[in-house]
Amino acid sequence: MSAPEPSRLAYVPFVSVANMMRLMHRIGVTEMICGIATCIEEDFRRWELFDKIPRVASHSLEGVIELMPTSDGEVYGFKYVNGHPKNTRDGLQTVTAFGLLADVHTGYPVLLSEMTLLTALRTAATSALVAKYLAPQGADTMALIGNGAQSEFQALAMKALCGVTRLRLYDIDRAATAKVMRNLTDRGFDLIACDTAEAAVEGAQIITTCTADKQNATILTDNLVGAGVHINAIGGDCPGKTELHRDILSRADVFVEYPPQTRIEGEIQQMPDDFPVTEMWQVINGTAPGRRDAGQITLFDGVGFATEDFSALRYLRGKLHDTGLYDALDMIADPDDPRDLFGMVQRASGTTA
Ligand code: NAD
Repeated sequence: MSAPEPSRLAYVPFVSVANMMRLMHRIGVTEMICGIATCIEEDFRRWELFDKIPRVASHSLEGVIELMPTSDGEVYGFKYVNGHPKNTRDGLQTVTAFGLLADVHTGYPVLLSEMTLLTALRTAATSALVAKYLAPQGADTMALIGNGAQSEFQALAMKALCGVTRLRLYDIDRAATAKVMRNLTDRGFDLIACDTAEAAVEGAQIITTCTADKQNATILTDNLVGAGVHINAIGGDCPGKTELHRDILSRADVFVEYPPQTRIEGEIQQMPDDFPVTEMWQVINGTAPGRRDAGQITLFDGVGFATEDFSALRYLRGKLHDTGLYDALDMIADPDDPRDLFGMVQRASGTTA
């Protein structure tokens, strides 16, 4: 599989993990995060155009498998994603994903891509885009609690979009923190490894929690959250899987992507159904206030929404032509006579052996 055949509509561009990594090297991780953040921001501004439903989740004792569909009326997209916190113990990723875009007018797929890496990029882009609107002015220090697969991407995004240059790192597994220290050497950060979450939040204007544990954990207690802080809580993203003590939610102004999904999956699952939240798309298009004053605690209860994956895939699709970093995948049966599917099989006799 290599060169695409543009004349064959049915050949679907496919971005493999290897090609995604080539793209990340060619364009640069930070530049990709910034480009995806721009697409996410554009799509939040045209929020009302999109089909929206809470993602479709299939839960098991150990994890969850989810489908995340949306459409802007021209292009349809979905992502398949899993969340299995115990996986790392067996040498597997907690989160893996792949996704697809299709032409609404024909229903034909126009892009299939790996999305494990793309999800890390889009999650970081979303976090930093939100922080750009909500974090206190001049924030340069972030506590990064949970130093797994998402963490370096979160750090790079917060540096590029918000100016964070000091990271206070904490993970229950010291090896995870050591890995982040190694990976982010020479990336322009002042890196401080901390022994507790309490130590990590000292002097931080932004607190990111991206831990993985399939339970109602308490990564942050109320006494750890000072006035004026912005919390970027992205690890609580499933029923029964949260990171913050509920007292923090009572003191903070809570911002979400899509309330019907966040009320099921986010930190606010701990609160009554009518708990007040602000939707980020409204902050971005200027119809709802973001940060009002320096003492306010802002909390992004981020669970990841389908439009963000759509935006990331849209960004990726825009890079294919110039880079050629894709394969042409023969995944749609497309006979010359559309009603002669059977004949296509017959004519292939002897050519498919
Ligand atoms: P990961 O398993 O690679 O890393 C999680 C890290 O959290 C591990 O290093 C683990 O040791 C650490 N940890 C667990 N409990 C902790 C605790 N009590 N205190 C400090 N550290 C603790 O997972 P990942 O891929 O980095 O994902 C992190 C979380 O983010 C997961 O829960 C995942 O489901 C979630 N996630 C959310 C989004 C979103 O859009 N909101 C997107 C991707 C992943």
